[in-house]
Amino acid sequence: MSAKIIDGVKIANGIKEKLKVEIENLKKKGNPPSLSAIQVGENPGSKVYIGAQRKSCEKMGIEYNLHQFDESVTQKEIADFINELNNNPRVTGIILQMPLPEHINARELQHLIDPRKDAEGVSPTNMGMVVYGKPTLGPCTAMAIMELIKSTGVELYGKEAVMVGHSDIVGKPTALFLLDKFVTTSVCHIATGERGTLPDYVKRAEILIVAVGKANLIKGEWIKEGAIVIDVGINRVKGKIVGDVEFDVARERASYITPVPGGVGPVTTAMLLRNTIEAAKLQIV
Ligand code: NAP
Repeated sequence: MSAKIIDGVKIANGIKEKLKVEIENLKKKGNPPSLSAIQVGENPGSKVYIGAQRKSCEKMGIEYNLHQFDESVTQKEIADFINELNNNPRVTGIILQMPLPEHINARELQHLIDPRKDAEGVSPTNMGMVVYGKPTLGPCTAMAIMELIKSTGVELYGKEAVMVGHSDIVGKPTALFLLDKFVTTSVCHIATGERGTLPDYVKRAEILIVAVGKANLIKGEWIKEGAIVIDVGINRVKGKIVGDVEFDVARERASYITPVPGGVGPVTTAMLLRNTIEAAKLQIV
């Protein structure tokens, strides 16, 4: 078997086409969406991500403003700035870029973002809504993963899934979304890896999602025949971007697989745009 490649760019373009209509409607009614990003210090990784965000927003006609702070900025200064953005009616979406310097408590700041302006879906209110299965502004990557799985058209009810990685923004919310679809879901993490049982879990996954950040962690031969494989990982190896799954072997066993790049990434950006538009709608008085 050679897997069908899930084309993240095509899926993202379809989502963006629908969003364009909504943006025009918001503008006509005098409620244009605008996204404000906060960045602390210089990080080459986030620079690329910010550049992509700006380009996507500008292409869609969404105003994008980047607010840069020096590494030496205090927690209070950023907190005050978030409050300023919360109270500014011209700002409809806020995004706090990671990583932040060691002395800054990211979670405390995420808690300060007005949940109605939380474009990344990381505030406690929006994260809490994930438990109920229908967040208005959900975590972008987890929502992108569900869109990619949905695109296969495979019936999910009763299937077995394995989520490798239990981060707050990817692994945990994805596992909750899957449970909501009546998928029996196992979540693996570093302790699974250390115990040596990761292959046993992966081998039984009809739906496998990997979000770790270690190139080739998942061996192709572990993939169950006919599985859906969603590779979230982004790793730079010898100047090339690769995922966490040994792609060439895995694609011979899977039924559907996402490429890296061109899989989860573009759909995550589309979800950020969708959240930005939903956020603007929430603020219409
Ligand atoms: P993260 O917060 O670093 O989480 C990584 C997870 O992997 C943790 O839960 C960690 O467990 C687990 N882990 C580490 N080594 C393991 C092993 N040997 N076996 C099993 N689990 C292991 O990262 P993240 O934010 O979720 O991102 C994960 C990857 O996805 C990164 O490469 C990131 O760049 C990529 N990503 C891509 C997109 C996109 O749009 N394409 C979006 C977000 C993230 P412990 O916490 O217990 O150590």
